[in-house]
Amino acid sequence: MYDVLIIGGGVCGAAVAMYLSKYDIKCALLEKENDIAMGTTKANSGIVHAGYDPEPDTLMARLNVRGSELTEELCKKLSVPYKKTGSLVVAFDSKDEAHIRKLYDRGMENGVRGMELLDKESLFELEPNLSEKAVGALYAPSAAVVNPWRFCIAMCETAAENGVEFYLDSEVTSIEKINGCFAVTAGGRTFDTKYIINAAGIYADDVASLVGARDFEIKASKGQYFLLDKTQSGLVNTVVFQCPTEKGKGVLVSPTADGNIIVGPNAESGNERDDVSTTREGLDFVAAEAAKTTSKINYRENIRSFSGLRANSDKSDFIIGESDLCRHFINVAGIKSPGLSSAAAIGEYVAELIADCGLIMTEKEQWNYPAPKVRFNELSNVEKERLCKENPKYGNVVCRCNLITEGEILDALDSKIKPRTLDGIKRRAGSGMGRCQGGFCGPRVHEIIANYYNIPMEEVLLDKNGSYIVCGKVGGEE
Ligand SMILES: Cc1cc2nc3c(=O)[nH]c(=O)nc-3n(C[C@H](O)[C@H](O)[C@H](O)COP(=O)(O)OP(=O)(O)OC[C@H]3O[C@@H](n4cnc5c(N)ncnc54)[C@H](O)[C@@H]3O)c2cc1C
Repeated sequence: MYDVLIIGGGVCGAAVAMYLSKYDIKCALLEKENDIAMGTTKANSGIVHAGYDPEPDTLMARLNVRGSELTEELCKKLSVPYKKTGSLVVAFDSKDEAHIRKLYDRGMENGVRGMELLDKESLFELEPNLSEKAVGALYAPSAAVVNPWRFCIAMCETAAENGVEFYLDSEVTSIEKINGCFAVTAGGRTFDTKYIINAAGIYADDVASLVGARDFEIKASKGQYFLLDKTQSGLVNTVVFQCPTEKGKGVLVSPTADGNIIVGPNAESGNERDDVSTTREGLDFVAAEAAKTTSKINYRENIRSFSGLRANSDKSDFIIGESDLCRHFINVAGIKSPGLSSAAAIGEYVAELIADCGLIMTEKEQWNYPAPKVRFNELSNVEKERLCKENPKYGNVVCRCNLITEGEILDALDSKIKPRTLDGIKRRAGSGMGRCQGGFCGPRVHEIIANYYNIPMEEVLLDKNGSYIVCGKVGGEE
């Protein structure tokens, strides 16, 4: 019998798993895909928002501000790419100026530290490439950018290191309540548990229906992006927003934690929950909006377009708490933006909630962060030389764009939560994330995976189940 089962291996489920791993309880996480960080967590802007956006006295406001503090600290401990760039909300006319003053006041109420209202001159000192039409901005120095999937994976690995069990390819398809406990069916197995955390992202309402607790609805809203090559780094130094509208935070231009520039997203409603396609129309809209911020975006340097799906609910705040319709079933649902920024605080808060619901939680005496992995491209020449002598696999460069070595690919394969796909390796080691987007390293990573698992090349997947790369040998058998 488990004490707690977490449904969903996105950044929220990951944070809950990590915080719960600090206690002497039996806990597992069930994820329907073949890897963690496969949902909204892998496709968003990667911003750790300062916290001036949410309405005061909401969970969103409180968890955003707390989450932003925790994320900085955690990323250092977990070796996750994080840069405290600060953010700007740029005003282009007097209506916008009134809006940023409102955001400033709201931020003060929410406890955001260090904000300033900048005039045109100070704004252009920070961001010389902005449109001449900009007249001022709200500056929030505590905003940052983070690599969202590395953050999620690092928290999951920490949880695994400290005893949480992970089950991939385990879609929860039924939940039965028996004598106050739950029998959860997932991936052909049954798990008995006292508590459930529903962190199933855009599917959280479907999961709630499995126990008759669907008192909210999720509607997916797609956001599309351009990701520019590192050659464009320096175009902006901070996260640059325009004034938000009722549809969301609007199109931003921002550095990423890995040194690229990201431009997007738009906001499309009425999406299918599995539609992460990009469209000419959506990307044209993004480019037209971003042109108001700066005319200097060079789309010839675009290396990837992608989209992510917001989990918009019919409630204005995050839905976090024990369901009114089912005892010991705790929703972490409707986690739209700033969900990434808030995730760590959500994990911390949910651990308190479960204790309040009656689970006896004793803190463990021993709890460890996993040992940091080798990041060859971050080492000095002396360290690189020493490492290659110790293990020549680190001397074999597989991804030329990002200088990722065979040793790092093998380290990724040896992870506590083992990836089996090219994109799973990409999310952990960073191969295929550069200018050629895997054109050069893809076949080599493919071969390393096949050798590692001792499986034929045809069985290696790019990403989700079914995403086969090759179907056999040209000319039949050798
Ligand atoms: C376009 C866009 C931009 C954004 N930008 C930002 C930003 O800059 N900053 C910010 O703070 N937030 C941002 N967000 C929000 C942020 O990305 C999300 O709040 C966060 O990723 C949500 O994480 P999650 O764990 O709740 O959901 P997910 O990452 O979607 O994880 C849910 C998991 O549950 C699994 N699952 C679903 N059903 C089942 C089932 N039946 N059984 C087992 N597993 C199941 C899914 O496969 C998935 O892995 C953005 C979102 C979008 C879409």
